[in-house]
Amino acid sequence: MKLFETHAHLDLPDFDADRENLINKCFSSGVEYIINIAFNKETAISSLELAIKHQHIFATVGYHPHDAQDFDAEIIKKHAREKKVVAIGEIGLDFFRNLSPYPVQRDVFANQAHLAVEYAFRWWFTIVKRIRSATISSNKRA
Ligand SMILES: [Zn+2]
Repeated sequence: MKLFETHAHLDLPDFDADRENLINKCFSSGVEYIINIAFNKETAISSLELAIKHQHIFATVGYHPHDAQDFDAEIIKKHAREKKVVAIGEIGLDFFRNLSPYPVQRDVFANQAHLAVEYAFRWWFTIVKRIRSATISSNKRA
């Protein structure tokens, strides 16, 4: 059986001590590919660095709803041009913890969805989204 890990955060400091061992263990256990998910500017950079270092790891670029206030479209555009970046993510709406105000989350989510369409020049380019406690209010107007 071939496995494709579609949502990992292997660039996080939690894995600093044993990241390479963990990655090797994944690949030797049957995982063929890994998509490492970014959620802000810093992880966009570290995810891409990880993807460049490992042939079978790919990266995303995006601003999580918790980090929506830091949204920078230029970071998305710059990273979306990279061959190893395969999706816009992790993006979405999260009204469970509400770490960014609703109107900011909504606007940043819409902006990133539009950027995903704009950069959908590769058939596999997609969106990694997160919707938490937002199903009823996702159409709400501010
Ligand atoms: Zn995640």
